[in-house]
Amino acid sequence: MGGIAPALRGGAMSFRLACALALLAAMSACAGDDEGDVAGAAGSGRAGSGAAGNGPADTFTVAVLPDTQFYACEYAEIFERQTQWIVDQRDARGIGLVVHTGDIVDANVRAQWDVAASSLHLLDNAVPYMLATGNHDVSDGRESLIDDYFVRPDGAAGALAPSPYDPDRFDNTFVTVRLAGQPWLFIGLEFGPRDAVVDWAGEVLAANADVPAVLFTHAYLYSDGSRYDRAVQPLQPYHPDAYAITPELGINDGEDLWRKLIEPHENVRLVLSGHVIPDGTARSVATRASGSRVHQLLANYQQCAQCPCTESEGGGGYLRLLEFDAAERIAVTTYSPHRNAALADDENTFTLDL
Ligand SMILES: [Zn+2]
Repeated sequence: MGGIAPALRGGAMSFRLACALALLAAMSACAGDDEGDVAGAAGSGRAGSGAAGNGPADTFTVAVLPDTQFYACEYAEIFERQTQWIVDQRDARGIGLVVHTGDIVDANVRAQWDVAASSLHLLDNAVPYMLATGNHDVSDGRESLIDDYFVRPDGAAGALAPSPYDPDRFDNTFVTVRLAGQPWLFIGLEFGPRDAVVDWAGEVLAANADVPAVLFTHAYLYSDGSRYDRAVQPLQPYHPDAYAITPELGINDGEDLWRKLIEPHENVRLVLSGHVIPDGTARSVATRASGSRVHQLLANYQQCAQCPCTESEGGGGYLRLLEFDAAERIAVTTYSPHRNAALADDENTFTLDL
């Protein structure tokens, strides 16, 4: 992977690691005090990164970008309309964070990362964003060009949080953001997370046990509302095991993540995922032994397996808006800036009571 001088990257890495360790020891050390501030893996100690500081004073909405892979492959203008709309609507809708649930590109090649990066970088210095890698974003060994497009040697990559798990990567990250006046932890995990990544995520959740959390990863929920579970294969196509990405380091499916991370950490309230076609929407509620509940959402509008997927225009530009309120409800809506259309059915417009 080229694109960034090793010496510069090494310097940035040391800084990020130092702040990440400080965060794990005392989250508040890196957190901002003002509403709308974002702290996270790189923290506000990254002086001048300040995209969050430039954001709206009253943030309560998170925009979710599901599988954009066919836009990167064929419909660059749709991808750009999504991110430009988010920037344009930032103040009016109080958008405080953008989350991408993976499959940013269809193939891990420069031509597609060029498209994805040019759209996503429209968010720089406007709205902080987090990326989770999907199966299409990586090659053998989980190698990905993603880092050539989002790591900057000055550490000022918008408010995107470099990973404290692996400072060379941007797909295992967390931030805290104030939404409707209270802090929320967002943690994003790579596709079929490795065992060590799951361990790291557990440490982050434990260190922030009093902060309600949203976890997102590319493959978690299947289209019938059940979690991906290798015990029932082959009933759930596209199970993470089918991709054999670093199997020697562990591949955790939805059931693994529930058992190891989500069930034990009561602060996790919501899980977001994508990946599944053609019926790419589902939602369900999981209940812990303690009686507490976790909402589980799947959204992916691409509808077919091969680019260009002309009938749906690769997904038609639909994105999700999660509007948080002070009573810990989330109003979920689905809208396409490309089509200027909303999806009003109850799979796409609903309210979650947390
Ligand atoms: Zn996928």
